[in-house]
Amino acid sequence: MAQSTAPNRQNGQNRSKKFSTTLPDVQTLSALTKEPFIDTHTHLHYTLERLPDTFGVKTFQILKEHYCPPNLEACVNVLCDPLSFSSDEIFPGTYMDWKVMAETPFMYLAAGVHPHNAKDYNEYIEAQMCKILQHPKTVALGEIGLDYHYDNSPKDVQRQVLIRQIEKAKELQKPLVIHTREAEEDTWDILTKHVPKDWKIHVHCFTDSPDFAKKLLDYFPNLYIGITGVVTYGSAKNTQEIVRSVAPLNRILLETDAPYMTPAKLNRNKRTNEKITVSHSGMIPFVAQKIAEITRKEIDVIMRAARENTRNMYGI
Ligand SMILES: [Zn+2]
Repeated sequence: MAQSTAPNRQNGQNRSKKFSTTLPDVQTLSALTKEPFIDTHTHLHYTLERLPDTFGVKTFQILKEHYCPPNLEACVNVLCDPLSFSSDEIFPGTYMDWKVMAETPFMYLAAGVHPHNAKDYNEYIEAQMCKILQHPKTVALGEIGLDYHYDNSPKDVQRQVLIRQIEKAKELQKPLVIHTREAEEDTWDILTKHVPKDWKIHVHCFTDSPDFAKKLLDYFPNLYIGITGVVTYGSAKNTQEIVRSVAPLNRILLETDAPYMTPAKLNRNKRTNEKITVSHSGMIPFVAQKIAEITRKEIDVIMRAARENTRNMYGI
């Protein structure tokens, strides 16, 4: 662990202008299903940050009312950058302030230090994180885990910080959101050694091997596999195979991981042909549609199963 220091950022209000984007209209997003849904993993504050000012989306309420279908009930907004843990002090009263997020009626929170940021983990950050975890709207600890694809933090530090946060989750009785990428062996070792078998676990945006998914599902009875817009991509053979023949419907969660992973059918605005580079919680039906296509089931069957699984995993 590094020495204790407070994170700082000059100004969270600067909307990035470098993303030129467009968004699909609500009719397009509402056409597939009327079933109520929750986006179980999103970074809605980053979504707002990435939307150009021309959209006029200054609050989470505006995003939901003007760009999401009415059957979007709620989302789990994931805070995984240590900077966001003291966002109530750095950006008070703005959409980046985690207390503002917690007061947003349709928003729940998860908080944990992402493996990319493991090198920054220290006692100050941990204390800030625990403050968020004690809020009644915070439904999980995460996303935490191992990412050997990018290797933004040394591997041994990633492992150490993952274990430390698992211990915190047990102490605070919080379900876990796990990020794992190209680290199957070490993730398996740590989870089976440190996490009780019946713990609630959401392995988010799963892109690793179907064998690994099966091992996890068999060992942990309350573990869910998170499926994002990645499943709609031609290259996502692993994720498609998992949906087809590994994860039963009662073990999957629908998520966007927004602002990333825009579903394939939405990545162009049909009218203007402009590229869509920002996804949001309203796009969940397009993830469900692809799962329906792969499993040869009705989309509403997928939506209802995922909604029930969300209740079991997060109690919402
Ligand atoms: Zn995420």
